[in-house]
Amino acid sequence: MGRIESDMPQNSHFNPLNPEEFRKQAHEMVDFIADYFQNIESYPVLSQVQPGYLRANLPENAPERPEPFETILKDVQNQIIPGMTHWLSPNFFAFFPSTVSTAGFLGEMLCTCFNSVGFNWLASPAATELEMTVMDWLADMLKLPESFMFQGTGGGIIHNTTSEAVIVTLIAARDKALDLIGSDDVNKLVVYASDQTHSTFAKACKIVGIPPTNIRLIPTTLAGGFSLSPSELRMAVETDVASGLVPVYLCLNLGTTSTTAIDPIEPLACVAKEHGMWVHVDAAYAGSACICPEFRHHLNGIELVDSLSLSPHKWLLTFLDCCCLWVQNPNSLVKALSTNPEYLRNKQSESDSVVDFKDWQLGTGRRFKSLRLWLIFRSYGVVNLQTHIRSDVRMAKMFEGLVRSDPRFEIVVPREFGLVCFRFYPGENCGSEYSKMLNRKLLDWVNSTGRVYMTHTKVGGVYVLRFAVGATLTDDRHVAAAWELIKEGADALLKTI
Ligand SMILES: *Cc1c(COP(=O)(O)O)cnc(C)c1O
Repeated sequence: MGRIESDMPQNSHFNPLNPEEFRKQAHEMVDFIADYFQNIESYPVLSQVQPGYLRANLPENAPERPEPFETILKDVQNQIIPGMTHWLSPNFFAFFPSTVSTAGFLGEMLCTCFNSVGFNWLASPAATELEMTVMDWLADMLKLPESFMFQGTGGGIIHNTTSEAVIVTLIAARDKALDLIGSDDVNKLVVYASDQTHSTFAKACKIVGIPPTNIRLIPTTLAGGFSLSPSELRMAVETDVASGLVPVYLCLNLGTTSTTAIDPIEPLACVAKEHGMWVHVDAAYAGSACICPEFRHHLNGIELVDSLSLSPHKWLLTFLDCCCLWVQNPNSLVKALSTNPEYLRNKQSESDSVVDFKDWQLGTGRRFKSLRLWLIFRSYGVVNLQTHIRSDVRMAKMFEGLVRSDPRFEIVVPREFGLVCFRFYPGENCGSEYSKMLNRKLLDWVNSTGRVYMTHTKVGGVYVLRFAVGATLTDDRHVAAAWELIKEGADALLKTI
């Protein structure tokens, strides 16, 4: 008893945010981060550690007493960094790159600094109004009709991920349909998408209560560019309607995850509208390209859809996470998602003169993420953002040319954006199992060098290597070196078979 009293001074206070200490440590951290960016090429892109490596090296319990900041930073360098797969490396060509920028980082610092929990307008008026502004700015950059903007009759919100955007729009669509047919008939609701649609769609349907047997993932083909065919959609919908089911939601892709396939919005939305479906466009990666006039045509017909989502954290320099969702009819979201507890009530919300973003999303609390986009748009201007997109596309084109110049390789699907889908295909006798084995071996070889990281996919029964250009630090020489490495791997492989 006496011991505890002597350890705990009366009226003790612990202040973990001392501005002077903050200044000193933040300086050190910024230096650490800048060094990391500068030295990033010296680390293997794909982490080469074994499962459990970190757990085995860290103490079992949190320290009882404070440790010096320098010791902690040293552990970041020696313990954490070896276990990182370096998404910011200029030699990262896997998945889709997650692009970053100085302005995005600084915006994130401010967002963290204010720690605003802006669930409604009053909780930080600036947070809500800046978000409305940047969502309108980005809508304008994409040449969306005013019906998607706050300055028109719609509006947009920043979510964390596409998954969230799909869930909230599905909920709105579901409730709209159930209002008409009665809430007992949820088992009659059917949803549609192509078989190339991101796996998060089926997960979202499950969460929202669409029976798994009512999720139609319509087959696509290599010959059809893996895009959803309007006549196939019509056939599926009409079959369901004939058997008494109720079509409720169509998810279209502007740039699928496997191959950046594009579903033609206009004819597909027309089919859906005949049956009163909600139409959503998932443009997570490729949507950003539509700020360039030469890519904007992929959004043709967008005025026919209900919602569009696009993740600037993928291709608009924003850092994770940031998924922009626009809707033409915000009331459908608010109707499905609004809550009104006593402890959040206030004059402004009640007067209906403000936007309360908590009613457009799943959770209540939300970060001041629009600061990142605001800093990015202002620091770089639309012109530089367009240059950034074009330069990634140009480098992907260059890589595509290199692949085409080597007869042992082939391009599997035509390239549209920054992703090149190709395979190693030496000789006539390349049955699909054999070809898959070769390409898997080549991929493992390349990734095990730590000099490049790429990933694969399987489409139309074909095992495909994906080379996604777009990491912020990548330039021509990294792309050229990656191709040399891939060729070296192919040479080594051919010697062993
Ligand atoms: C990356 C991606 C997703 C997944 O996005 P999250 O934000 O991680 O949920 C969904 N759809 C497409 C087309 C994607 O490329």
